[in-house]
Amino acid sequence: MTTRTGAEETTPGTSDHAWLELAVAADLEAVEAVSEILSRVAPGGTSVEPGFELVDEGLGARIDSERPAIVRASVPARDSDAAAAAVETARTALGHLQAFGLRPIGELAVRTVDERDWADAWKRHFPVLRVGRRLVIRPTWRRHRRTPEDVVLALDPGMAFGTGLHPTTRLCLAGIERWADEGRMAAAPPVKLDGEARRTGTPSSGVRLLDVGCGSGILGIAALKLGAANVVGVDPDPIAIEATAANARRNRVARRLTAVEGSLPSARGPFDLVAANLIASLLVRLAGDLRAELRPGGRILASGIFVDREPDVTNAFERAGLGVVRRDAEGEWVALEAEAGG
Ligand code: SAH
Repeated sequence: MTTRTGAEETTPGTSDHAWLELAVAADLEAVEAVSEILSRVAPGGTSVEPGFELVDEGLGARIDSERPAIVRASVPARDSDAAAAAVETARTALGHLQAFGLRPIGELAVRTVDERDWADAWKRHFPVLRVGRRLVIRPTWRRHRRTPEDVVLALDPGMAFGTGLHPTTRLCLAGIERWADEGRMAAAPPVKLDGEARRTGTPSSGVRLLDVGCGSGILGIAALKLGAANVVGVDPDPIAIEATAANARRNRVARRLTAVEGSLPSARGPFDLVAANLIASLLVRLAGDLRAELRPGGRILASGIFVDREPDVTNAFERAGLGVVRRDAEGEWVALEAEAGG
């Protein structure tokens, strides 16, 4: 803290620019509960730095769900009494969480941060991330030395969901990479040329993917980088649509990605593939609409499913004509792959 006027001079550690940073180590299962508690006292919400191990000679990181994550939040320290009260509120609620013995969490750590360092401080918490075998999620402000096999997504998460840090996003990315490995992402098998295409010599279609709840656009962009011809992303949140469009430009796939504000039906089907990282109740409600977006034999990857809701989603899918062919899990999160019946 360098500039302070006499009138505003207060106790050391507090000024117009000062914040208290609250940090708690929590295992992956406790992250949500701890975030919820900290967000009650932190107007700007919380950030989660996952536990990760360094790979690529320390240049990249891979999430390790066995290691604790760090949940952070900041409280304005301008009014030191209010700040102290906020810290106490958080400490008490965290104490309750510990007392119930439900979730192993660490002690609350508090430190003073100056806002002028703060603006960019959150960026430290997004490492370059490897997902699956080839995918690398690179925050736009970080550098990555790529190997020839790497498929790199440059992503600015901004305000939209989809940083690659959440287990459900990673499950979907791994599924999309698997589709590519299985040859489902390359030009559709025996493409039938329509009249126009015959004249110009271009196939009438490559693989088309619908990204339902596109958020930052991470899934659709990964699909395009792995060989899909076209992606339509839908999301009712205008911030997500903006983020998806900006990230598509950043990754030079904007011409092949259409982001539309809204939900289903997309009115742009049928699609060969659908990615839907939503929540279980929404997947149940949208099962019929999701099926209707797919051509017969098309596949859907659905995630955001907490393990205890899995049977509900499986049943709704089966009723809608989506036969579950594969299941993957990370912690308590499940991803299902299903095939549209004829
Ligand atoms: N696809 C990203 C983001 C998933 S978060 C990823 O995998 O990381 C879920 C997204 O679904 C949010 O952006 C939210 O705005 C969107 N959403 C919420 N309700 C929806 C609905 N009814 N139809 C489609 N998307 C919806």
